[in-house]
Amino acid sequence: MTRQKKQIETILLHMTDGIVAFDMKGKVIHINLAAKKLLNISDETDFESIFERFGVDINLEKIIYLDDWTSSEKKLNLENQAINLFFAPFKNENDRPGGVIVVVQDITEQEKLDNMRKEFVADVSHELKTPITSIMGYADTLIDSEVDEENQKRFLERISSEAKRMSKLVADLLILSKYDTAKIKIEKTEFDLGELVKYVFEGQTIEMQKKDLTGECYVTADVPPVYADKMGIERVVINLLSNAIKYTDVGGKITVYVGFVYNDAYIKIKDTGRGIPENDLAKIFERFYRVDKDRARETGGTGLGLSIAKEILDQNDSRIDIKSEVGKGTDVIIRIPTKVK
Ligand code: ADP
Repeated sequence: MTRQKKQIETILLHMTDGIVAFDMKGKVIHINLAAKKLLNISDETDFESIFERFGVDINLEKIIYLDDWTSSEKKLNLENQAINLFFAPFKNENDRPGGVIVVVQDITEQEKLDNMRKEFVADVSHELKTPITSIMGYADTLIDSEVDEENQKRFLERISSEAKRMSKLVADLLILSKYDTAKIKIEKTEFDLGELVKYVFEGQTIEMQKKDLTGECYVTADVPPVYADKMGIERVVINLLSNAIKYTDVGGKITVYVGFVYNDAYIKIKDTGRGIPENDLAKIFERFYRVDKDRARETGGTGLGLSIAKEILDQNDSRIDIKSEVGKGTDVIIRIPTKVK
């Protein structure tokens, strides 16, 4: 018996959830360390004084006699913490009501994630609503009023570009969600990073020419093969290079370097564009974050490119650093491991 009791006591002591047992009068029979910490209890020893402090409207008798032996639940939103309380009656050895057990759970992280999810849904809805409203406006005008040929063409072009924006947004969201839910399988292989970067760079030369940008790509000779997901890294380089092109004014310069330092291969993408203000630097990896929302709309940005890049790099044990100066330009540096881990 005593051994069993000791075992139970040890389990209760080390549980991350808090447990408090009250007798029929509301006196504490047992309380574990986690419950003391979570409820910040020092010497309160009865039901009422513990829960009154948090403004919890719950009554001991009601749980024991009226709730038909089902547990009830209450959520506490404290200043920096969210806590869930489960109240359940228990019976004694004679099968008569013995008291109430309260399980105290720290749900702060869960709540945070839940709020992020809600915000994300709200952001997605907002981002999709803007182009839809605009498409509907132009289409209705074309249907309902006499529009001369020149304006017809202009409106149709706007409809087309807004539809493209929506399509890009949905495609980016799908990619992000596939990475989130691990539906895209990360397949790490050894490959030549310099070759990949040169290939992506060549694919973007037309975009650079359109804006009259000078583009240069240098690969040093000493870069060993990297060990990462090739398709993912290709997507990252495309996103970063197209940002450099998007946010650099006509006539600017984009330089890409691929090299090797301290066991990591690196890619540096340098532009002479508008730069990113220091206050925004920490936030640009957040989903939908754009430094200048109105201007970003003109460039067709979705605010997801860097979030996707960060997600992919995290999954490849790689890192990204951005240095930027407003009006001068931006350096984006990625480091990718070369040793098989
Ligand atoms: P977007 O689709 O809007 O480009 P990203 O997630 O790729 O979304 O980038 C987020 C924001 O970071 C952009 O809207 C832009 O304000 C800023 N940004 C990213 N790359 C650069 C860059 N090379 N130069 C200046 N600003 C940049």
